[in-house]
Amino acid sequence: MTGLAEIEAALASERLVMLGGLAPTPPHPPATRSLLLVGPDNPRFWPHFTASREYADNQPDPLDRWSKRVFGAVAGTFGGTAIFPSDGPPYPPFYAWALQSGTFFVSPISLLVHPRDGLMCSLRGALALPLALDFPDPVPSPCNGCETRPCLSTCPVGAFETGQYAVTACHNHLDTPAGSDCMGTGCAARRACPASQRSGRNPAQSAFHMRAFHGKR
Ligand code: SF4
Ligand code: SF4
Repeated sequence: MTGLAEIEAALASERLVMLGGLAPTPPHPPATRSLLLVGPDNPRFWPHFTASREYADNQPDPLDRWSKRVFGAVAGTFGGTAIFPSDGPPYPPFYAWALQSGTFFVSPISLLVHPRDGLMCSLRGALALPLALDFPDPVPSPCNGCETRPCLSTCPVGAFETGQYAVTACHNHLDTPAGSDCMGTGCAARRACPASQRSGRNPAQSAFHMRAFHGKR
């Protein structure tokens, strides 16, 4: 009988990792008994992805195309399907699933935070499997005991001072020469989180996401 270790090994072969797991209610899709929330296995993910055919072919959306291929293959191996945050509308409730899993938390700046990657956590997709799996026990939030809360005060334009994301102020800053720090190495507020610093996420990976984020406004 398939166990979690077997599925995690398949994910690890693609430098992916389960960041949370749950039995979704209601099941989504209907035959689903377990939902695995999956993200990059930092820092090993970035060199693996940049060696892929999708990264090399100069076509649009290489990470989305890589994710569709790889997640679909892993899910299919275990009789399931892959689900992505961009599947919609209506979009799958990844934020709610993340909180239900007990391994993601709402940070003081409202973004999800995870013990493994801090504010650099990234949910690439989910595996919806027709298998009943036992998931690890919930873990404490990394925000417990984080007394200085640098996520609230590090942004150079105060985009999180109210606890909500002032996205226009952020984009305006990224258009200026001073915004090159965030554009080149990732959001300073996310980087300042002590849990993010333990992640070891490659700055080039963060720059890739920043270009996608800033280019879509
Ligand atoms: S900086 Fe501290 S309070 Fe803010 S998200 Fe990270 S761990 Fe939580
Ligand atoms: S990317 Fe830079 S400007 Fe935008 S919210 Fe993060 S720290 Fe602030």
